[in-house]
Amino acid sequence: PEAEAVLTVTGLEAGYHGIPVVRGLDLQVRAGEVVALLGSNGAGKTTTLMTVAGLLAPLGGSISFDGESIGGVAAHRLARRGLSLVPEDRALFAELTVRENLRLARAKTGSERDVLDLLPELTKCLDRKAGLLSGGEQQMLAVGRALVTRPKLLVVDEMSLGLAPVVVERLLPVLRRVAVGFGTGVLVVEQHVTLALDVAERAYVLAHGRLVLSGTAAQLRDQPDLLTASYLGDA
Ligand code: ATP
Repeated sequence: PEAEAVLTVTGLEAGYHGIPVVRGLDLQVRAGEVVALLGSNGAGKTTTLMTVAGLLAPLGGSISFDGESIGGVAAHRLARRGLSLVPEDRALFAELTVRENLRLARAKTGSERDVLDLLPELTKCLDRKAGLLSGGEQQMLAVGRALVTRPKLLVVDEMSLGLAPVVVERLLPVLRRVAVGFGTGVLVVEQHVTLALDVAERAYVLAHGRLVLSGTAAQLRDQPDLLTASYLGDA
């Protein structure tokens, strides 16, 4: 049987100043599954993630997380309920060490140990300042920090921003480890379409704020329209 949905988005309208840039979006993420959100620049991917994560109030439609309606619930409350966002800019404390960054994220019940077991790459840089890590290590830390509270849903914006493709190739499979190891549902926005489909079970493709394609990674890989629909230059 299929795992239960941790996130169900129905007919979502999302945008700015009352003007939707994302329209009629239906999307689902199940426990333990990696789902990629693809699409060209300006398609509405970040807007969708920010709305799901509670940083932007939805203009219409519904968002349900862990069986409860969350449209309009603030990000910090969602974080406490198990919806964790890894923002595009990573938002690390550059002057603090890896260990301190992880510790700050820890709620009463959280633990770094499980995260370090899952991301052993972080163990060897625990005492280094976050600002001095490589881009790939910083991104790993951003993911690790979001995982300290053992979220049910991890929402990841553009992991690969500013990273070399070879680094992205090593980094993206971390999301699969998270989904399998913690049973977390993962929703990830990614520019590298083919790399994203290597780690995602399913994907949705947005163009101009509307869903134009969706399916399993295998189905989408065989779609001749895919790269045109989500063309970003380096896929
Ligand atoms: P990219 O890959 O370039 O980040 P994206 O798919 O994430 O693209 P969004 O960032 O969601 O796209 O942008 C969707 C649309 O919303 C764009 O037309 C953009 O100009 C607009 N937009 C984004 N942020 C704002 C904002 N703060 N205020 C008004 N419009 C915005």
